[in-house]
Amino acid sequence: MSTIIDGKVLSLSLKEEMKGRIVELEKRYGRKPCLVVIIVGDNPASRSYVTGKIKAAAFVGMDSRLVELPEDVSEEKLLSVIDGLNADDAVDGILVQLPLPAHINEDKVIDAIALEKDVDGFHPGNVAKLWLGRPCIVPCTPKGIIKMIETTGIDISGKKAVVVGRSNIVGKPVAKLLLDRNATVTIAHSRTKDLAAVCAEADILVAAVGRPCMVTADMVKPGAVVIDVGINRIPCVKEDGTPGSRLVGDVDYESASKVAGFITPVPGGVGPMTITMLMENTIECFLRKQGC
Ligand code: NDP
Repeated sequence: MSTIIDGKVLSLSLKEEMKGRIVELEKRYGRKPCLVVIIVGDNPASRSYVTGKIKAAAFVGMDSRLVELPEDVSEEKLLSVIDGLNADDAVDGILVQLPLPAHINEDKVIDAIALEKDVDGFHPGNVAKLWLGRPCIVPCTPKGIIKMIETTGIDISGKKAVVVGRSNIVGKPVAKLLLDRNATVTIAHSRTKDLAAVCAEADILVAAVGRPCMVTADMVKPGAVVIDVGINRIPCVKEDGTPGSRLVGDVDYESASKVAGFITPVPGGVGPMTITMLMENTIECFLRKQGC
């Protein structure tokens, strides 16, 4: 049976540490770090992510603001809100919850966020810096994944890492972070031939696909570190016999946990760490502004 890498427990201890740091920062600089989250429309999943972010900010004691814009807000209006926040000295981090409605160009919106306030690390300037190995804001989910791997005590250097998924927000940046730590990295995707054999070679396996329980025990090398990024809602029958739904990852936890050395659960794995890294990135942006 594998050891669980508990994202909730790890997040909580990191957030407790942040509480103390924020008290010190306020004493030293006369204000707390401030995160602004913008939500457009009322997509229930986006709403729940945004609520989690604002709650986490309150928990660590940083300032936060939620800007709520209607579904039919114009792109121009959203860009002008971002411009205003870019110019606001009391704001350290700006996050626009994705996805945006179809009439708004997401690239334009991401590009409009000031590089030094881009707490998601999605701005092309931050992406370029990440790939050039320069100091930058590292995207939250990949950053959290690396912290989780590091808690296992396993030395990433020289290990074979397989990342399944090549999105700009998870797959590619996590592959780069593993490469930076001297892993030998393979990025697999929907056209990869014999995915099972590729995965079974991995000492570190990161699944960021969005397909429920796709990674099964036969795809896991005995003793491997398995990081499950997927968040998939599947139908289930509730205790009272009525239809409901539950969250599962991209990894078939039941079977894979019998083979892996370490594994993250869903829920309670990568998800909480992503939010915690958002808090860390906001603090980092605050500190850079103070010239630290
Ligand atoms: P995307 O849909 O952007 O990317 C999915 C990737 O999976 C693509 O590269 C795709 O390949 C690949 N893929 C799809 N089907 C297969 C297959 N059968 N075999 C191999 N590869 C396949 O997803 P994201 O990266 O945004 O998210 C992935 C998952 O992680 C989702 O469940 C999402 O909800 C979750 N997530 C969780 C977060 C958290 O905090 N826990 C944060 C962000 C995402 P191709 O490029 O060839 O199409």
